[in-house]
Amino acid sequence: MITATKVKLYPNQAQRVLLEKHFGSTRFVYNYFLAKRDEYYIAHKGAKKSSLSYFDTNKLLTGLKKQYPWLYEVNAQSLQMSLRFLDNAFKEFFHNNADHPRFRKKGKDDYFAIPQYVKIKGNRICFPKFKEGIRFRGSEEKLSEIKDIRQIVITKDAGDYFCSIIYEVEEKPEKAPLSAENSVGIDLGIEKFATLSDGTAIENPHFIEKVEERIKRMQRQLSKKKKGSKNRRKLRLKLQRKYRKLRYTREDFFDKVSTAIAKRYDTIIIEDLNVRGMMQNHHIAKSIGDASFYAFKQKLLWKADKYGKNVVEIGRFEPSSKLCSRCGHLKRDLKLSDRVYHCDACGLTIDRDLNAAINIRKMGLIKVGLVRPEFTPVEKATSGLLGLYPYRQMSLVEAGSSEAQAEG
Ligand SMILES: [Zn+2]
Repeated sequence: MITATKVKLYPNQAQRVLLEKHFGSTRFVYNYFLAKRDEYYIAHKGAKKSSLSYFDTNKLLTGLKKQYPWLYEVNAQSLQMSLRFLDNAFKEFFHNNADHPRFRKKGKDDYFAIPQYVKIKGNRICFPKFKEGIRFRGSEEKLSEIKDIRQIVITKDAGDYFCSIIYEVEEKPEKAPLSAENSVGIDLGIEKFATLSDGTAIENPHFIEKVEERIKRMQRQLSKKKKGSKNRRKLRLKLQRKYRKLRYTREDFFDKVSTAIAKRYDTIIIEDLNVRGMMQNHHIAKSIGDASFYAFKQKLLWKADKYGKNVVEIGRFEPSSKLCSRCGHLKRDLKLSDRVYHCDACGLTIDRDLNAAINIRKMGLIKVGLVRPEFTPVEKATSGLLGLYPYRQMSLVEAGSSEAQAEG
């Protein structure tokens, strides 16, 4: 299976200059041959050979380099890759109804690819013309699984340099059997990011809130700056960086949470989120957007695949928060503001989200036929995620509610 990871590069001054040369030269070659291919097509319309192929342009490239010797300063294979990209764009145009290839612009389409001779040495990534390596930082978990690098693509975004590493990973492990014993229900929420049926509460990280606040402040500042002014441009660049940081920190958070859950449990049960439906409630809309449930779910599905685990989705309209997780009584008048669930029928008092998570687990197990609806599944005491990731173990509002599960 081919997958990719993106790392941030920290080039020194000389490396920056050489990177810029690569962006410029690959862009030049791309645009030059884009025009050439169009010219050729117009001149040879209806002829037996009406368009230039990748190989044609590759041959012509040799002549172009003699004409513009500065093209020799960059990795020859990156120039060829530029021709490949152009060829793909034309193929998409001719065969898949894509738009006609457009000219690459400086500052907007800054990228180049390296197809061979890439090595990672410690915290440096080495490739032709950059033998001493460029310092980088990225997800250690992802980096650890890299064995066979297929290609790298260097990009520039808001003044910073990045490298996408495309590599081969080992085949996925076989799925663990669905199991009731080693299963968990997850309630995604607004107050807390997630609550697990084993009693683990995962708070929304404060550092994300902090970055969000900073972004809001900068947006207000930006609206006051004069249009087209230097200060406005500077601030906008800063803002872009902050957005990127927010995206990365959030992704990192999702990464850690989903990995911990996927490693710990064989069967993971989650609500099929209809985010749009939930968005209709104005007050919670923002938090839901922020919590990016959807992005988290994608991550969780991916991790489950990676570790050979199962994800079961249950319908969102099943009343997971209104049912009593001990006796099954339906509490119709439960309000969104009620943080504690109190059952009038059996007297259970329990954290609202934990009650929902336990119900989600049960509904999932019933759905896949691991338990019959009339029986409560056997709850094994679990160690939760403690030790895997430093989450707070939630104290139950009323001691003994988990034993109540076991009696079933
Ligand atoms: Zn009850």
